Amino acid sequence: MAEYNRVLLKLSGEALAGDKKHGFDEATCIKVAEQVKSIVEKGIQVGIVIGGGNFWRGRTSETIDRTKADQIGMLATIMNCIYTSEIFRSVGMKTQILTPFECGSMTKLFSKDRANKYFEKGMVVFFAGGTGHPYFSTDTGIALRAIEMEADAILLAKAIDGVYDSDPGKNSDAKKYDVVSIEEVLDKKLQVIDLTATIMCMENKIPLLVFGLNEENSIINTVSGVFTGTK
Ligand code: UDP
Repeated sequence: MAEYNRVLLKLSGEALAGDKKHGFDEATCIKVAEQVKSIVEKGIQVGIVIGGGNFWRGRTSETIDRTKADQIGMLATIMNCIYTSEIFRSVGMKTQILTPFECGSMTKLFSKDRANKYFEKGMVVFFAGGTGHPYFSTDTGIALRAIEMEADAILLAKAIDGVYDSDPGKNSDAKKYDVVSIEEVLDKKLQVIDLTATIMCMENKIPLLVFGLNEENSIINTVSGVFTGTK
């Protein structure tokens, strides 16, 4: 059934926190794990990128040096991956965490060959630590890894169920797009992923599928053609 052989799924840090907005919400993570397990069992290779916003975002600190603030942010993404990887294992998946810098025995150093080796073994590969550089985001991290790993699509699991022409929280007439080009996203400054990541996806023609994480079975539906978000 798979139209997709390899996808990269982006979860924001806040998505892991459920209603608490901070730390981890186990029930939310288990739901994600069960959906990912179901698509891995259908033969789709799944890579995961997780943000760090449930702990820390470098750009929000006005006091400390931005490079150091971003280092904390990158470490937050690694904590999120260690947690989520263990939840994935608890439902029966095999996982491996790769980082762009050495983290001792906690993760393995990223290389394309190494990631391919794990994908071929049926493992879910966590791309933690973003790009490894400050002034970037996990949006840029997923764009970079999707391009390098030749993924068929980026799945962007969001708090809202797609891309709108204006903020549906502020404008009750906001319209959801079924399909929108990256050029239009750029033109209209639609809030999908950050600008650097948007340009990388456009230049490298990586499809983005945006959907609501809280919708029932949204990850499974997204790769099964029952897609109700924005392409
Ligand atoms: N970060 C970074 N470089 C990267 C990726 C992430 O410095 O390549 C840091 C940055 O401080 C960012 C934080 O990690 O604020 C968490 O990532 P992001 O804001 O993308 O998380 P999200 O908002 O998706 O939870």
